[in-house]
Amino acid sequence: MTSRAELIKENRSKNGGKLICEKCSKEKPESSIVIDHADNNRKNNKRKNLQVICRSCNKKKDPSKISKLLKIKGLTFEEVYKGIDKQILSDKLRIDNVAMAKNIYGKKAVRKWLEKKLSKVAYLVVNEGFYNSAAEIGDVNPDTAQRWLGTIASDEGKFRIREINGVEYIMTKASASEFDKDSQTNKHNEKNK
Ligand SMILES: [Zn+2]
Repeated sequence: MTSRAELIKENRSKNGGKLICEKCSKEKPESSIVIDHADNNRKNNKRKNLQVICRSCNKKKDPSKISKLLKIKGLTFEEVYKGIDKQILSDKLRIDNVAMAKNIYGKKAVRKWLEKKLSKVAYLVVNEGFYNSAAEIGDVNPDTAQRWLGTIASDEGKFRIREINGVEYIMTKASASEFDKDSQTNKHNEKNK
């Protein structure tokens, strides 16, 4: 078996001294790195099955216990999510598994929906109607949708929220950096008036 220290050393030497997550390709401190079993089988310690990934990538993976449970039921995570409306799963799976599936696939659906919308318009106003639509897409309540939007529009995500005169707007990362540039210029011009 290859040890954690060895795998980390191997990763650094491959990446010119930097420790890079094998999933998201971002540089990470050693404390955020986990050695993950690609197939979720902890007994499979073959080098090919071990991957050096960050905690946030690891979290996104299906937890092995739930994967196993789904396997027994002959279901995929995606089916759990899609099956929520049909209520076919309530008797088959515990409620927290459904919540977890919603969290993964619902959030993904909201992200896709936003991407599509923001490819047509520069921004969307973040108001009650916006949260309601996001909630509908993700099949969750508006509070959960609001919480999701918080992560989707965080520094790690693809979207940003900017405020103009007390109104919040959601936009892509690229639009936000344009917006930031403009507001800098405006501030500068105000000063020089
Ligand atoms: Zn990662």
